[in-house]
Amino acid sequence: MIRGMKAPSFMDLALQAAENAGQSGEVPIGCVVVRNQEVIATGANRTLTDHDPTAHAEIVALREAAKKIGSERLVDCDLYVTLEPCTMCAGAISFARVRRLYYGAADPKGGAVESGVRFFASPTCHHVPDVYSGVGESEAARLLKEFFRERR
Ligand SMILES: [Zn+2]
Repeated sequence: MIRGMKAPSFMDLALQAAENAGQSGEVPIGCVVVRNQEVIATGANRTLTDHDPTAHAEIVALREAAKKIGSERLVDCDLYVTLEPCTMCAGAISFARVRRLYYGAADPKGGAVESGVRFFASPTCHHVPDVYSGVGESEAARLLKEFFRERR
């Protein structure tokens, strides 16, 4: 159990999960869910490993967190993810009633918070988390840049 960590430290754990995912050939995106200053779930991109198009870091972590809490509503939970969530994940974050969303790098190509459909600003979004962007941004962007450079 990790207690008493400040916001940047939780993002460091998400970045570590991202780095591990990158080392196993997945796109390096990582996520943690925090409740009462405690990490209750960690997720990383697993789409290749699981042959699952929905296995984004956020979905993996939300599922684990919900199972741990025993509820589909993650009340009082905060989610830290290294990249701006996509449309699917923004939807899942809303359904899960996540309290605060912290994310690292913006994703103009696939994001749905400040980019694309801006899901939380749409009238069909019924729960909007508090959003903090740019947390650990440079490290998150560096991981992704290096990953795609190596694959070119
Ligand atoms: Zn996603």
